[in-house]
Amino acid sequence: MPDLYMKKCRCPYCLKETETKRVLSRHIRVDKTDRDGMIHYKGSNVYYYEPVQCTHCRFLFHDTFGKLTTDVRETIATTILPSLPVLPFASTERTADQALQLYKLCLYTAQITRQKDAIQAMLGVRIAWLYRLLENREQELLWTERTVLKYEALYAAYLDPIQAGIPEETLLLRLADLYAVLDRTADARKWYSVIFQSTDVSERIKKEAREHWELYREQHDL
Ligand SMILES: [Zn+2]
Repeated sequence: MPDLYMKKCRCPYCLKETETKRVLSRHIRVDKTDRDGMIHYKGSNVYYYEPVQCTHCRFLFHDTFGKLTTDVRETIATTILPSLPVLPFASTERTADQALQLYKLCLYTAQITRQKDAIQAMLGVRIAWLYRLLENREQELLWTERTVLKYEALYAAYLDPIQAGIPEETLLLRLADLYAVLDRTADARKWYSVIFQSTDVSERIKKEAREHWELYREQHDL
């Protein structure tokens, strides 16, 4: 595993330092990027190594997890930890299937510990992408559908980027792109239009949105 190394990180539950495998940044090689932001890697897949299982307490987490409240810590101790499996591959080289298992457990702990919706949605997108890699179109669409609903709820309750955990323009582009992935033309058109007509969205995001919408129209003969 020449392109992997052990990275130290702090477990948000037991607060001890644990180690997890990561891809060395100088070895990261991008093959291509899909319309919705999924990166295809030539070497080791960076996505596989994002979820972390603490080697001390077996809690599963992602780097984006925030601080855990006292009542959440109690729930983890009494109901979560006893049911979490110790996954041997969590500390070794991972396959897409193994990464998928880790992401699902990570999403579960994110829900239980009430992580921001943006974090839960991001984990959902990663799961959809892993199913794309595995060429399981049915599961990919199912997880994309779930995630897009999460992002829509997030947009409906949007106050500011810090509270939401995602910039508003990024959220808008995510919504439009995910509906494009789902081949839902009316919804994709609606969200791309919001971007085109907004005075707050940056030129960079508008340019990306225009490219994505053009590509969608070409592919769907619109
Ligand atoms: Zn721990």
